Amino acid sequence: MSSNSTILVTGGAGYIGSHAVLSLQEKGYDVVILDNLVYGHRDIVENHLNVELVVGDTCDAALLEELFRSREITAVMHFAAYAYVGESVANPAKYYHNNVVGTLTLLEAMQRAGVDKFVFSSTCATYGVPETVPIPETHPQNPINPYGGSKLMVERILKDFDTAYGLKSVTFRYFNAAGADPYQRTGEDHHPETHLIPLILLTALGKRDAIKIFGTNYPTRDGTCIRDYIHVTDLAQAHVLGLEYLLNGGNSEVFNLGNGNGFTVREMIATAKEVTQTDFAVEETEPRPGDPAMLVGSSDRARNILNWQPQYADLNQIFRHAWQWHQLRHQ
Ligand code: UDP
Repeated sequence: MSSNSTILVTGGAGYIGSHAVLSLQEKGYDVVILDNLVYGHRDIVENHLNVELVVGDTCDAALLEELFRSREITAVMHFAAYAYVGESVANPAKYYHNNVVGTLTLLEAMQRAGVDKFVFSSTCATYGVPETVPIPETHPQNPINPYGGSKLMVERILKDFDTAYGLKSVTFRYFNAAGADPYQRTGEDHHPETHLIPLILLTALGKRDAIKIFGTNYPTRDGTCIRDYIHVTDLAQAHVLGLEYLLNGGNSEVFNLGNGNGFTVREMIATAKEVTQTDFAVEETEPRPGDPAMLVGSSDRARNILNWQPQYADLNQIFRHAWQWHQLRHQ
């Protein structure tokens, strides 16, 4: 489709955003990245994504004004956000400022420029503690931390902007993004790293002494938390489908993105040992505050309305791609 469309991707130097840039390019879209490089990686953009990088912040109204004035931007994919749950509890101001004020500033700049299509990264953290699993999009939203709260506020803003100004948006509520680009052009690299898969793989690489299991008395099949891990390339492809849905005149929609299968922390560690052919130390520790026992999503809506078909749902495959990336990144 439309090779004349330029898509602004905020946070395009980050983990999920960089995969979305690759998926957009594969479909012939021109892309401009806006990223403040606080957590994003310049080297990944320069070495593997053949696109313009504008270094700046979504809170910078003057920069946004200039960006929209100087380019023909058809739609915005918005990934730029802070996403550490623990940090959001300790420093909510940082999260509400960047994630809410930054997004509002971006939406106002779009409005002034007449850009009315928006693809938004939200999260299953907006649901809080699930009442039913798998979680449907209609599940009540009662986030239990400021990170989830900041994303829910933006969801509310998007609803009101549609009613008042006709802004059309697709919101994706992700479960656990995992894996890496199958061709190792990009992957997960957070500083500090808090996520289970990269921590397991850094342990397998000998960069860490042990992987800690946070809690072993949850009411699950082996006592450890269950999460729904979804390949980041499948997430990225859903974003392109969401964009095309909007470009074809679709109404605002919200979609969960997950595999619908849950795995325990112990199962994740066992799969990692198998894929990496490495043995490493595992330590059982106290639960991490605020971790629900089980988060698994129903993504039927994305499958039905967007015709989204995850290609890399197999957990071994997710670990193989993540392992290839980590070996390359940390060699
Ligand atoms: N987890 C763990 N040890 C770690 C990091 C995470 O046991 O070092 C668990 C965590 O409690 C959760 C799951 O792994 O149940 C996934 O955590 P992650 O931080 O990757 O994602 P989240 O589900 O918090 O978004």
